[in-house]
Amino acid sequence: MTQTSNNSREQRPTIIVGGGVSGLTAAKTLEDAGMPVVLLEGSDRLGGRIHTLDLEEDDASWIDMGAGWILDHRTNPVFHMLKDAGTEVRSVPVVGPRVRIYDHGSATWKQWTAAMKAYGKFGWALMRPQPISSEFSSLGERFDERLGNQPKREDAYLLKSFLEILIGSSVDDMHQNMLSEVWEHVEHKGTSMVMITGGYRHLVELLSNALSTTEVMLNQTVSQVSIPQNSSTAPLVAVETSDGRTYQGARVIITVPLGVLKAGSIAFDPPLPPAKQDAIERIGFGTVEKVVMTFENAFWRRNRRKPMSLFSIADPVAADGMYVDVSATSGSGPGAPTSHCLAYVCGNTKAELVAENPEAAVEQVLSDLQTIFPDTFEPPVATATSRWRSSPFSQGSYAYPSVHTEPGDFTKLGEPTHDGMVLFAGDACAEGTALGYVEGAIFSGERAAKDVLAATGRNISRPVD
Ligand SMILES: Cc1cc2nc3c(=O)[nH]c(=O)nc-3n(C[C@H](O)[C@H](O)[C@H](O)COP(=O)(O)OP(=O)(O)OC[C@H]3O[C@@H](n4cnc5c(N)ncnc54)[C@H](O)[C@@H]3O)c2cc1C
Repeated sequence: MTQTSNNSREQRPTIIVGGGVSGLTAAKTLEDAGMPVVLLEGSDRLGGRIHTLDLEEDDASWIDMGAGWILDHRTNPVFHMLKDAGTEVRSVPVVGPRVRIYDHGSATWKQWTAAMKAYGKFGWALMRPQPISSEFSSLGERFDERLGNQPKREDAYLLKSFLEILIGSSVDDMHQNMLSEVWEHVEHKGTSMVMITGGYRHLVELLSNALSTTEVMLNQTVSQVSIPQNSSTAPLVAVETSDGRTYQGARVIITVPLGVLKAGSIAFDPPLPPAKQDAIERIGFGTVEKVVMTFENAFWRRNRRKPMSLFSIADPVAADGMYVDVSATSGSGPGAPTSHCLAYVCGNTKAELVAENPEAAVEQVLSDLQTIFPDTFEPPVATATSRWRSSPFSQGSYAYPSVHTEPGDFTKLGEPTHDGMVLFAGDACAEGTALGYVEGAIFSGERAAKDVLAATGRNISRPVD
């Protein structure tokens, strides 16, 4: 390994591993400060867990297979970035009068308003507990205590299964304080939810088009990160890829999903400190998959003008279907001849089915829809499934506090290691309610880049237009 002086080392690039929004944001922040950057992306596209599919390959039916919503949009910087760039958003409700709940147990439609009242009552009661309580072993146990011995099917569904759909894991594996306002990770935001017309790809395009000097390399799967221990003054980080290439840099920012870190797909030499490794193992990483479908007619809408989401309560109650009509943002529009609907598929068994036999997963979703709408159901004209669990570049969907997660674990995950030469970013390294969301990934990328700038004594300067 070549030895370098501090000066020549600082002329070496910062290597960013991963071309999702956190990596792209880190690259832009460093670029703006005049620093050289090499971005290594393992797959053949940028965007990571943002992936908008052109379902019918007609440039008119864009559906998000990964991130889809901007939550609390008025305060969300993602909304403002897109708005400034002229991109439109539309409200796609999953709560309220335009949403329906079908119960397979009684083959009836439930009253949404009454069900949501119960949900609100339970929800508020659950958000009060202090985080140090050790009364319950999991959130599931806490819910069971609230629900009592004979809960209404829709209450059990809304309290437990709905969350399981959103998080992609069992409430029995979620930390009992996950919904507490004082716990690190709070999953109860969502006063407003909008989707982006034409999909989240607009954000990836916005961020990647803004890069000018960053060397972006696709199909570069990083397998090892090494920092020589016996080089006397200023060692370089060596980043090796699975095709045998080595990139040297002053520092490396790792932005791969937590699932990739959990799988140990990147070896660190010297290894990551035990505290970091423990945090990686203790934080949960759930799986949510999507089945997207195009239909000639939106047979599920009572009123054709009103897009509608629906839930289906499985029998026995389990995390099952959540169907969202995305025609308003997919490019087709409610009045157009084709309509797009996506189904959230989650829970280990179902996610495995998507990974192992996507056709069977689609069949299952369609058979459910046929049961719910026996008179109006029509077969789809196109379908597709996501592969977040089986993709080596994600190995799941997003992080959550598991029953094993300890206070401080999310902070540890984001801390630099190896004397500040290895930095970490990505949605799981974000803080508070941004954790696990696109805006959290953006914040974390910016923070890691600013840490690099601080270490080099640079101010963050924006180029004069
Ligand atoms: C189904 C689903 C629904 C979601 N819904 C929402 C939503 O509605 N709203 C919201 O805000 N967020 C949502 N999210 C979360 C959101 O997508 C993420 O928070 C965000 O995209 C994460 O960005 P990131 O840059 O941290 O990670 P990623 O986007 O995962 O980027 C990491 C990059 O690293 C690359 N990589 C992995 N391994 C290697 C390797 N060894 N070498 C090189 N490169 C590698 C990957 O290919 C990827 O491009 C959803 C996610 C999923 C999966």
